[in-house]
Amino acid sequence: MSSKSQNSNLVPPAPGFEPICHVCIRMFASRPEKFTHDPSSKHRECVLCARDFCERHASIKHMENKAEFERYPVCEINHETYWRNHNGIGSLTPFRTVEEYKENCESDTD
Ligand SMILES: [Zn+2]
Ligand SMILES: [Zn+2]
Repeated sequence: MSSKSQNSNLVPPAPGFEPICHVCIRMFASRPEKFTHDPSSKHRECVLCARDFCERHASIKHMENKAEFERYPVCEINHETYWRNHNGIGSLTPFRTVEEYKENCESDTD
């Protein structure tokens, strides 16, 4: 067995491919000819911006704590900026941090 590098599964998209991850969607739309992805990548829904993302676009900082990441998946975008642009728009209010998410979604005090 030769050692595999982390990105060895990256392949160009098959015909008719539609990305699930919101970061991949943007990349694929702007440069389809440069786009590669890992078809075996798991997708998760970001607790902060409520969009699907692939493992490649997960927050590296949050991935450091695996257990926490499994409970509170976070994508790599700057949620502070996203929050500023989207707060109060629509029914889903994004969160800036996992702490903020926990405070809003996990307290059952009333
Ligand atoms: Zn992605
Ligand atoms: Zn996100």
